[in-house]
Amino acid sequence: MPEKILAIVLLLLARVAAIGQAAPSTPKTILIKAERMLDVRSGKYVSNAAILVENDRIKAAGSLADVQARAPKDASVIDLGAATLLPGLIDCHAHLLTAGTSIDPQETILNAAAGMSPTARVLLGAHNAREDLEGGFTSVRVVGHSGIDGDVSLREAIKAGWLSGPRIQAAARKLAPPGGQALHLNPAVADEIVHQEFLQMGSADEARKAVRENLLYGADLIKVVADDDNRFITPEEMKAIVEEAHRAKVKVAVHATTVTGIQAAVDAGVDSIEHGDDITDEQLKTMREKGIFFDITQLFFGGRLRTMVEKRMVLPPQLQQELKMYEHIDAKRTPALIQRILKSGVKFTAGSDMWFDYPGKTRGEATALMFGALKDAGMPAAEVIRAATVNAAQSLGWQDRVGTLEAGRFADIIAVAGDPLADVTELEHVQFVMKGGAVIKNAVEKK
Ligand SMILES: [Zn+2]
Repeated sequence: MPEKILAIVLLLLARVAAIGQAAPSTPKTILIKAERMLDVRSGKYVSNAAILVENDRIKAAGSLADVQARAPKDASVIDLGAATLLPGLIDCHAHLLTAGTSIDPQETILNAAAGMSPTARVLLGAHNAREDLEGGFTSVRVVGHSGIDGDVSLREAIKAGWLSGPRIQAAARKLAPPGGQALHLNPAVADEIVHQEFLQMGSADEARKAVRENLLYGADLIKVVADDDNRFITPEEMKAIVEEAHRAKVKVAVHATTVTGIQAAVDAGVDSIEHGDDITDEQLKTMREKGIFFDITQLFFGGRLRTMVEKRMVLPPQLQQELKMYEHIDAKRTPALIQRILKSGVKFTAGSDMWFDYPGKTRGEATALMFGALKDAGMPAAEVIRAATVNAAQSLGWQDRVGTLEAGRFADIIAVAGDPLADVTELEHVQFVMKGGAVIKNAVEKK
């Protein structure tokens, strides 16, 4: 009897195996044609270009003649005419689960952490994720202000196909000095609120614990606030964070604006510095040597902050004055910083830090303002585009998946109407978006 049962089981297993092998479904192939394609590595155009997409991946990309020769007869064709093809854009510094209506970060964090339910925040994140994707951002790194694990849930929902949105790397909660960031609250209730948004730590042991807690809730990377308001992560805490995160093979991105904060992060061997306002040339040099990325978040250069603020409110005299002061400093500091970054040879990426509800713009359109801002601050267009594609992919550790239009990468492809090397603000009006072989938006082909 047992032999008989065994025989039946084996027979069933053989059938299951046969079913597994039997029907190789025919791959879905799409041939995308366009007048130009940007090779982001060289910064040069391929004219009369095409990309062959098989299921969710790029099978071939190059000149139409070459690619067409490899396309099966029954491949469907998307003809984008005079458009320019580029890899899907990557935002290295997103905050999809906030939509601030004030330029005061305390107000925004407080509204989100104490005034919204986690459910509402994730729904807000879903809304922003769809708008980001439709704006051409096919991958984003969410670096905090997501509640305890809202960005993780959003990532999973998008992966499962419940929602339309970019590929997400989620940082969950920021690790921060006690009190978190930009929060001056009633001490009697502060802990409860801060805990929604930050993992507070006061020692190397607590730092290790905080990393492990974030990993437990599904974080892909660790985001640290190195400095805020004269409160700093100590060098010992930073080292502990990096050691614990790297042990788990996740990267560490650090909000650091002061020389002290940047130094602790660079010494500990983090993976990227976010913002980096007061960085010294010596620190840039060390970052280059260690391969640490500089994530440039100069979204509001060239009057863009004023435009946003004025769309929302009539500025009272005091705010007028503050804004003027900010613009005065920014007009000098940002172009100088961009030149120093370019000269240093440090690896750099573009991060929007878009945590606002920008009047009149979708989250994707608002995020794309960073391209014009970087260009106006003196970065050549080809470098701006690299910062949000090939460089960004490397910073995320996703260089074998996204960031270039090369065989084997995910078919994350966008197209713009004009010439983005001549006018990088074309990226504010992306006309065609494909993610993983699925067309998300096609405003080029009139159906
Ligand atoms: Zn940020």
